[in-house]
Amino acid sequence: MSKIYISLGSNLGNKEQNLMGAIAAIGCEIGVVRRVSEFYASKPDGFVSENNFLNAALLVISDMEPLLVLRKLQQIEREMGRKPKSGNEYSDRIIDLDILLYDNEIINYPELKIPHPYMMERDFVLIPLREIAPELSIFKTA
Ligand code: ADP
Ligand code: MG
Repeated sequence: MSKIYISLGSNLGNKEQNLMGAIAAIGCEIGVVRRVSEFYASKPDGFVSENNFLNAALLVISDMEPLLVLRKLQQIEREMGRKPKSGNEYSDRIIDLDILLYDNEIINYPELKIPHPYMMERDFVLIPLREIAPELSIFKTA
């Protein structure tokens, strides 16, 4: 069984309900949701919007291979009504589901990079992740 850390974000509609719906869907479709962080409010980063985010992190235990996890997350995003993004712009979204870590694997496919390339720069990812996984080596200071 693998340990898969997933980050969730929503800045449209009923954000708390969106996060809870996504967590339930992940539990049905991907594996056992072992840890769930608090929901944290954050300001949009990388684009301008009046809609603040609600973010969370999960630990999911599963045997599903990484690319299939990505596809399942994208399917959940679509089913929840997320619109495909236009171009490379960041924009408001009902739900965003990203894979942060998959055990200690390093993955460099065109459509899937693990560890998530921007996670170390984003407090809205690191704060919920540290809450559920303070033991991770990225949080150990030298
Ligand atoms: P973002 O999460 O950067 O706001 P999207 O959710 O639209 O934007 O994702 C853009 C692309 O990022 C997806 O098409 C997906 O293939 C790619 N991607 C690369 N690595 C990951 C990852 N670790 N988790 C989720 N998506 C990833
Ligand atoms: Mg994403």
